[in-house]
Amino acid sequence: MQTADGYVASLRARQLRLFVDGELCASPVDHPKVRPAVNAVAATYALAHDPKHRALATRESDLVGRPVNRFTALFRAPEDLVRKLELQRVLGRLTGTCFQRCVGLDGINALYVATHERPVARERFVAWLRGVQERDEMLNGAMTDAKGDRSQRPPGQPDHYVRVVERRADGVVIRGAKIHQTGAANAHQILVMPGQALREGEEDFAIACAMPVDAPGVTMVLGRQPSDDRRGGPDAGNARFGGQECVVLFDDVFVPHERVFLDGDLEACSTLVSTFAGYHRASYGGCKPGNLDVLVGAADLVTRTNGVRKASHVRDKLVQMAHLTETIHGLGVGASAKGTLHPSGVWVVDPILANVCKHHVTQLPYEIVRLAEDLAGGALSTLPSIADLDHPELGPALRTVAGSEERAKVLRLVESMAYGAGSVPFRIECMHGAGSPQAQRVVLEREIDWEAKVKRARVLAGIDADDELA
Ligand code: SF4
Ligand code: FE
Repeated sequence: MQTADGYVASLRARQLRLFVDGELCASPVDHPKVRPAVNAVAATYALAHDPKHRALATRESDLVGRPVNRFTALFRAPEDLVRKLELQRVLGRLTGTCFQRCVGLDGINALYVATHERPVARERFVAWLRGVQERDEMLNGAMTDAKGDRSQRPPGQPDHYVRVVERRADGVVIRGAKIHQTGAANAHQILVMPGQALREGEEDFAIACAMPVDAPGVTMVLGRQPSDDRRGGPDAGNARFGGQECVVLFDDVFVPHERVFLDGDLEACSTLVSTFAGYHRASYGGCKPGNLDVLVGAADLVTRTNGVRKASHVRDKLVQMAHLTETIHGLGVGASAKGTLHPSGVWVVDPILANVCKHHVTQLPYEIVRLAEDLAGGALSTLPSIADLDHPELGPALRTVAGSEERAKVLRLVESMAYGAGSVPFRIECMHGAGSPQAQRVVLEREIDWEAKVKRARVLAGIDADDELA
């Protein structure tokens, strides 16, 4: 299995075409706006070699006959889904941000399910996945299309979607863009998947395939984050880790048949999209509670430096923050523990609890951030830079009134997670990642057995006879 250092070295071997702030980036790994996100992915490799976490971070693979990094493994056993959540919580706590590797993990499992009863697709996919496991690759799971005017279907505005523009004897040519691409610039391969269920006549958009990140025609553009100019400096907030989102442009990218898994198969694509949504909505019950552990810890620390930790309202707010954090985690674990075995041999999550989990993630972290801002006090957004606190002349007087450098650093961490660079992979991703709130309500309305509820109500009201309980 790859090590953290080996992973970073492997990224240098790519000929990635990445733009940052209007300039082609010569060495993405060394760019201060990219490196924190590389570090976060590297943590997923480090844990596989850490005796304390190895059991959680690795898994025996029946495809290659040896242990692989869990981020490349199929959910073959019922406990795999819960282990994923536990691993995500650990990584979320260790990095305080998005470690970017779960979209690929959830994507490969969803594709395994979707290619069930598609022997050609399954064979190609498994052959490709074997290579991913052997090389221990980081995947950019590329789902979200730009979508443009939501009142129009893809054929009415094809440039807003990734689609097949040519079918050749040896493969397909794809064009378009994927947006909000988590960790794209830190990946080895892109796993392109459709971003939504498609209808008859939309077959060109029903494409699932893979390519190296530096395939000819692929260009990435790094997303801008608030305060990202602070990256690598003392005011960064999170001193070591960060998240990453890119726009990925596909300018007539050729994909050979062996890496085309689904092409025009509407039914399989619909299964792929809904299975992925379930997996990834449960995933947020792992990573986000881990991130929230950091925020709770930071808020706690500020109250200690302010001498108010023992005040009853402070204790109560910290308990509330932890309570809401565990609520999210409990739902993610519940969705995973109530998983069922799909006929393909992979376990899938409980769709209702997965969607309830993600729906809470669109709400509870906002309340937790509000409480963190309450506990942090106004200094959160008025504090001078750490350079000022360190200034030989100003420093001593300034530290007397503004507090120590340690206090400043922890306030910067809260600031970053609340509305700085850290809020992109944390707060905003809580809202829109794995689907915006309405997407979960749509699934809940569809999945909930309303008739069963009505039936029982009728029985207990004495309207109907009881045929369930003798
Ligand atoms: Fe993983 Fe969470 Fe990042 Fe999604 S948001 S890739 S689940 S860490
Ligand atoms: Fe995400």
